[in-house]
Amino acid sequence: MSTQKVAIVTGSNKGIGYAIVKGLCEKYKGLVYLTSRDEGRGKAAIEKLKKLGFNPLFHQLDILDQTSVDTFRDYIKETHGGIDILVNNAAIAFNVDAKETIGVQAEETIKVNYFGTLRVCQSLFPLLRNNARVVNISSSAGKLARIPSADLRAKLSRKDLTIPQLNELVEKFVRAAKEGKMQQDGWGSSTYVVSKVALTALTFIQQRQFDEEKPDRHVAVNAVHPGYVDTDMTNHKGPLTIEEGARAALFLALEAELRGQFVWEDCTVVD
Ligand code: NDP
Repeated sequence: MSTQKVAIVTGSNKGIGYAIVKGLCEKYKGLVYLTSRDEGRGKAAIEKLKKLGFNPLFHQLDILDQTSVDTFRDYIKETHGGIDILVNNAAIAFNVDAKETIGVQAEETIKVNYFGTLRVCQSLFPLLRNNARVVNISSSAGKLARIPSADLRAKLSRKDLTIPQLNELVEKFVRAAKEGKMQQDGWGSSTYVVSKVALTALTFIQQRQFDEEKPDRHVAVNAVHPGYVDTDMTNHKGPLTIEEGARAALFLALEAELRGQFVWEDCTVVD
């Protein structure tokens, strides 16, 4: 079993995740895993990075697929024994002109961005080593203020909110979207916003749980808004390069002495 440090980035065959892998290859004294749900796309990204002189490792990882996640966990456990950096980057966003009903969009977006990320955390967290850093890639859309209902905002920001309670809230949201009651019930009009607000809330719960249950392990869990970035997700409308979009995530993964915070693209902490 190798004793080297291990960093993992989900959904890193392109976009910001790819740039985070590149940045880790440049700056991190450890092994860096580029993961992708599609083996072909993942290996093509590895080749691209090899041509730049970097040497990331590859493993297939579909955050929607429990078997894929568990296979990856078992592989990491057997090969390296633990994880030092986990960047939860993989996510989806429907285009504004998407043909799917809002109910389908809500279900899919929550399934990937919230429950997919939660699945990865539940499977990989037992492998986190002391002083490990977890970075959840949220968004400016992940600010609580983006939810119109004061009652929902209060529920989502409760200091004693648990993961089962948060799951219940997002499931309620999906039901409201399917019934055409998203706005009426106070969730607003964006399924992506709800998925990212839930991810930010999850970040705070995860930090609290580590602090309460395993304070000696000094695990840090933070959320980040990467900025508005030129990627497929934004139809290349964002002004930032992927390298600029990776900056704050790399700061959290490598440098910051922060725990349970929400950090902006300029590396400052926001409320
Ligand atoms: P991209 O669409 O360019 O990349 C998303 C990545 O996630 C792709 O590698 C995609 O894989 C992967 N992915 C999607 N679903 C899954 C899955 N089920 N399992 C594993 N991987 C999956 O997006 P960005 O690079 O723009 O976004 C990266 C992160 O930054 C996301 O969390 C996004 O929400 C966030 N963000 C982005 C902003 C921006 O301006 N771009 C702004 C704010 C936040 P595949 O190639 O197979 O589709």
